[in-house]
Amino acid sequence: MKSEIIQRYIHGDTLIIVSSLREICEEIAKNQGITLNSDYMSLGLVASFTAALAAEQKEDETYLTACFKWPKAKKSIAVTAFGDGRMCACIEPFFPDQGDENTILEVTRHSDVGGEYRSVVLGKNVQGAINAYITESMQRNAKWKAIRDGRMTAGIFVQELPGSTDLRKTWDEIKPFFKALDENELINAGCEKLGERELKFGCHCSKRSAQRVLEAIPPSERATLGETAEIVCKFCGKKYEIENE
Ligand SMILES: [Zn+2]
Repeated sequence: MKSEIIQRYIHGDTLIIVSSLREICEEIAKNQGITLNSDYMSLGLVASFTAALAAEQKEDETYLTACFKWPKAKKSIAVTAFGDGRMCACIEPFFPDQGDENTILEVTRHSDVGGEYRSVVLGKNVQGAINAYITESMQRNAKWKAIRDGRMTAGIFVQELPGSTDLRKTWDEIKPFFKALDENELINAGCEKLGERELKFGCHCSKRSAQRVLEAIPPSERATLGETAEIVCKFCGKKYEIENE
């Protein structure tokens, strides 16, 4: 299976999105200082899901961010993906409210005209939170599964188009091919390929977004920063010198 790619297929009235990532996750791991342990596995799951969601973005959306928070492990992974295939991520500590044990999934859709739209769901683990997102926030019947092969993670997102009831049938027909996710095998199983797009590491930060970070700092704290403040993007590490007025 190729990686750093997102492919879209149609099977009857069901849309199939296959995302596969490896090098992007390795680059994120390097940027964020994580080793190839369980954090890397979680990153692969989150990144493959976010890539698939971004492939079906609404027209006026510029990018979307899926942030998973693990109260027990006290960490969070946020992955941002653009419709054009750019992706980046930020891994941070997360300090939960008392007694909260479920995995939290926050999906934020950013648009230039409408601002931000955020939905929050809970699940027992990543798969559970994604299932909750599908049930509670998407308006289609859908299924999602991640498959890991060494350092590569592939996500399969299968969703019914409006008016369709084929999900279970399509899922059962393509399930035997999940292991290899070979393009020709999927086509032989009755999938028609709609297109593919390369995925690559790329950030959404700008001088303007760095300015907004500075503006969000309380005035008393800003006063201690000097005439120019250095704002470092937590997704890509790029440094911005911003006038602190
Ligand atoms: Zn950045």
